[in-house]
Amino acid sequence: MRPGCLTLACDCSAVRALGAPLSPAVPQLAIVTRHDGLSDWRYGRDPATARVVEVTASHLGLVWNATAYRAIAYHLAAARPAERVAAEGQRSGR
Ligand SMILES: [Zn+2]
Repeated sequence: MRPGCLTLACDCSAVRALGAPLSPAVPQLAIVTRHDGLSDWRYGRDPATARVVEVTASHLGLVWNATAYRAIAYHLAAARPAERVAAEGQRSGR
């Protein structure tokens, strides 16, 4: 990783991919916590969000939150096959 990577100053493919718009074919899941401490929990109310799951955790505590991982697993399992195909096509550039 080069210095400055994962900042807006870097123009590598990883950073460009993070800034690219998400496919409308892929339903978005927002996992929010009112105790975030860094981000406004209401950000999960973006119109593109298909589902919002509220959990009890701090911002950094989300990475250890079993409820959040369970919600991600259910959300991915519920995605329709056509949406998965569209998402895989976007990732591979097809
Ligand atoms: Zn970079």
